[in-house]
Amino acid sequence: MTRRATRVGYTNRHGQTVIGRMTVVDRVSAIYVLRCEDCGLEYSAYEIDVKHRRCPHDADAGRPARIH
Ligand SMILES: [Zn+2]
Repeated sequence: MTRRATRVGYTNRHGQTVIGRMTVVDRVSAIYVLRCEDCGLEYSAYEIDVKHRRCPHDADAGRPARIH
């Protein structure tokens, strides 16, 4: 079962809200724009990362902050 967390307005459990979708679509995955509800930072993330994405400012994020 696959449930996509890619609606605009969706907020994942780390407080990252989907605010839009980029027109550019990568070969692998669509790219969405997220906003951190904690610090207000806006950044892009692959669709497959949206559900578990944390704020790039989070020391535990464990991934590069930006993909562009
Ligand atoms: Zn933040």
